[in-house]
Amino acid sequence: MSEDQIREPELTPDEESELEAEVARFAAEESDRLGLGRDQYVEKVADQFWAEDRAHTTLLVSGLSMAHDHLVQAALAGIGYRVATLDVPDQEALRYGKEFGNRGQCSPTYFTVGNLVKELVHKRDVEGMSTQEIIDGYLFLTAGGCGPCRFGMYVTEYRKALRDAGFDGFRVMTFQMAGGIQQATGKELGLRIDPEFAWHIVRALIVGDILNILGYRIRPYEVVPGSTDAALEACKAILHDTFSHKAHVSLALWKCRKILRKVEVDRTRAKPVVSIIGEFFAMTTEGDGNYHMHRFLEGEGAEVEIQGITNWLLFLIWEAGYDTSKRQELRWDDLARKGLQGKNATKKQWSLRAGYWAIRAVFQTYAQILGLHGYELPNMDHIAKLAHDHYSTDVRGGEGHMEVGKLIHFVEDRINHMTVSVKPFGCMPSSGVSDGVQTLVQSRFPESIFVPIETTGDQQVNAHSRVQMMLFKARQKAAAEFEKALSETGQTREEFARRVRKSRWWRHPFTRPKHRTASVVTNLVYEVG
Ligand code: SF4
Repeated sequence: MSEDQIREPELTPDEESELEAEVARFAAEESDRLGLGRDQYVEKVADQFWAEDRAHTTLLVSGLSMAHDHLVQAALAGIGYRVATLDVPDQEALRYGKEFGNRGQCSPTYFTVGNLVKELVHKRDVEGMSTQEIIDGYLFLTAGGCGPCRFGMYVTEYRKALRDAGFDGFRVMTFQMAGGIQQATGKELGLRIDPEFAWHIVRALIVGDILNILGYRIRPYEVVPGSTDAALEACKAILHDTFSHKAHVSLALWKCRKILRKVEVDRTRAKPVVSIIGEFFAMTTEGDGNYHMHRFLEGEGAEVEIQGITNWLLFLIWEAGYDTSKRQELRWDDLARKGLQGKNATKKQWSLRAGYWAIRAVFQTYAQILGLHGYELPNMDHIAKLAHDHYSTDVRGGEGHMEVGKLIHFVEDRINHMTVSVKPFGCMPSSGVSDGVQTLVQSRFPESIFVPIETTGDQQVNAHSRVQMMLFKARQKAAAEFEKALSETGQTREEFARRVRKSRWWRHPFTRPKHRTASVVTNLVYEVG
């Protein structure tokens, strides 16, 4: 049949409008029949927070590591807000989350939403505050988002759970709700996100990262049990004071350096290095949300390698730059909310690049002052390149391609002996990566030891036992590397240990020998040898 014969007959304008009217009539009839003709539900949002309320309203924050929450609280207090942190989400929080949250949420939603409900219930039922006092005197500040995962619905989920728990009208605010003057009322909004705000928060997050990374590097080798934690607590107090009084952060870090360098370490026995990656909340929290995975691994004799929040900031900037470059290829300016209409794309790219390098520069400066030497933040272009063949960099949600790129980077650059990926129950992005794509990556890198664990909140024994089994292999890998290094440098274990113990430099907690293998001890063998 020729092309002319199969072409649809052309309609006259009258016939076309008749056809459209018939389709519209049919759509209306079907809509009525299916009961879809009702008014769209619009959620009532309590978001009244004005500048004049700052003095008598406490902002509740939580959801990161303990050090981060503590320092963010101080940073916000330093710029004039009343702030309090919530406890680390625990089983009780999960129970509240499941009681008042929607069905079918991912476990971080239950933990974080339940944690807020738990706190408010405590204020009402234990501290004796009235519901109205709580609603008037507190609000919860969180990050908003969008994309194909539940992160975009967190705020709605918080509001739903609070309503059902008897706190209808409690304010849950996202950073996106910040601004200057509201046009309708002429009043100044309570949350003012300006360069000063960003500078304080970003620095608090960076310092929290450095403190955590240093703690995880030193603690496994401490001679006196508990000495690292005691030093970290002292540092946190100094830094909290500094941020809340807007004092000199560099000076405070220098004071902390003096405290941390007194922690005695013994780096003469190789330990397996285990990285914890996965979904953002699940890998960052230090409680039941990931079965206390960090401390569990340390208790089993491993050195834990964590992922900082700075990585996440760099990833967000990278994503914005990537999306902008894609939009620049379009024929017309993109009209989307963060599109290019009315913007100078080149200027936007340069600003993002400047932000990316500024964050890296601040991180490295503070890291050197505090004593975190030889630590490199991941290069986001490199991570994207590594992940590209396995997971599209266009896919959004969760950690995106970053988790895939990280695993390859760990193997290729000998960063660890084993990787634990914490995958929350019900998390679509994380399940697709950990159970799907990472299986392919493992088959291409058979030397990798990769353990995905699912966090439902109630399977701690299972998760710990799976990690324990794989840790056995990682231990063997670390021991083999150590023995090889000894033989290559012609030392016995005893000789190596004797030399290390004799030198103040090699016993120093900040000493970081040149990177050759994942283990700091094995690298030390080469250096000593
Ligand atoms: S990434 Fe997964 S766990 Fe995290 S909010 Fe999205 S769906 Fe939930």
